[in-house]
Amino acid sequence: MANVLWLQGGACSGNTMSFLNAEEPTVVELVVDFGINILWHPSMGLEIGHQVEQLLNNIISGKIQLDILVFEGTLIEGPNGTGTMNIFAERPMKDWVKELSKVAGYVVAIGDCATWGGIPATPPNPTDSTGLQFLKKKVGGYLGKGYISKGGLPVINIPGCPAHPDWITQILVAIATGRIADVQIDAFHRPTTFFSEFTQTGCTNARAFGEKVDGDFGKRGGCLFYEVGCRGPMTHSSCNRILWNRQASKTRVNHPCLGCTEPGFPHDDLKKGSIFKTQHYLGFLPKEVPDGDNKLTYYFKAGIGKVFGSPSKTFEQTK
Ligand code: SF4
Ligand code: SF4
Repeated sequence: MANVLWLQGGACSGNTMSFLNAEEPTVVELVVDFGINILWHPSMGLEIGHQVEQLLNNIISGKIQLDILVFEGTLIEGPNGTGTMNIFAERPMKDWVKELSKVAGYVVAIGDCATWGGIPATPPNPTDSTGLQFLKKKVGGYLGKGYISKGGLPVINIPGCPAHPDWITQILVAIATGRIADVQIDAFHRPTTFFSEFTQTGCTNARAFGEKVDGDFGKRGGCLFYEVGCRGPMTHSSCNRILWNRQASKTRVNHPCLGCTEPGFPHDDLKKGSIFKTQHYLGFLPKEVPDGDNKLTYYFKAGIGKVFGSPSKTFEQTK
C-alpha cells in the first residue's frame, strides 16, 4: 500500500480533472486494486480546515507515513520570497512543501506548472512561481538541484498541460507496487517510457510532413508544422501512441501540438504572434527544425519543397 498526499499550488486543477478521467486503471481501481491510499486530495479529501492542518503535521512528525507527495500547480514564492500569495492551512504552501518533501518517499510533480513553472512563471511572473525542481529549462526550482527524496530519486516530473491520466496513474502504480526502480528518467526528470519519442510518432499527418504538404486547423490531409506552429517533431510525448480518451490526440484532429511536455512551454513566452504560427526566416524557413535534423540540410529540403512544391503537394492542389 502507498499513502498519497496530493496538494495544489498555483493551479487550475486541470491535472486533477485529467486524473479523475483515468480509465486504465480508474481512480477507484487505483484505490481498490493497486493499494493507493489517498490521504488527502483538494477535490476528494474529506478533511477540512484544521483537520487538514493536523493531518499535515502528523505526516511531518512521522505519525503518518508519506509514500508519495504529488504536487500540482506552481510553487508560489511571492511576494518577496514570503509565499503569502498562496496560504494553505494557515501557512504559505511553500513551507508545507519544504517540510513534506523531506519525509516523502517520492515526490511527483504533475503538469507543467509543478514541473517547471508553466504559464504562471511566464514573464513577468507576478507570483514568483517556479516548478519544484526546475524553472523553465534551468534545474533548481524550489527544492533545489540536489534534492533527492527518501526513496532515492529527484522529483519525478510528469509534464503536460494537463498531463495524460495514464502517465500519472502508471507512475503512481509503479511506486505503489515497488517497481519504480524500473522507470528511467531523462535529463528533465521525465519518465522515458512516456517521453522518449516525439509527439509526431503515430501522428496520422506524418506522411504529409514528409511530403511537405501544408495543413490547417481541422483540415485533413496536411501537416501543421509548416504554418500553424505544430511542435510535434520537437516535443517528447506519447500523445499519438497513448491516445487521449482512448481515441484521439490534438494532431489527429488537426490541431497543432503546442509542445506542452517540454520545459520551454509556453514557448516564446507567449509573445504576440508566436501562438499557432510557425516562426519563419525569410518568410518560409522554419526557425525551429525537427529535433536531430541538421538545420541547413533541413532548410534546403524544406525550402525547395515549399518554393517549388512536391509531387504530392501538386497532387493536393490539383484535386
Ligand atoms: S501535424 Fe504535427 S505531429 Fe503531425 S506530422 Fe505534422 S508536424 Fe508532425
Ligand atoms: S499533443 Fe502536444 S500540446 Fe497536446 S498534450 Fe500532447 S504534447 Fe501537449
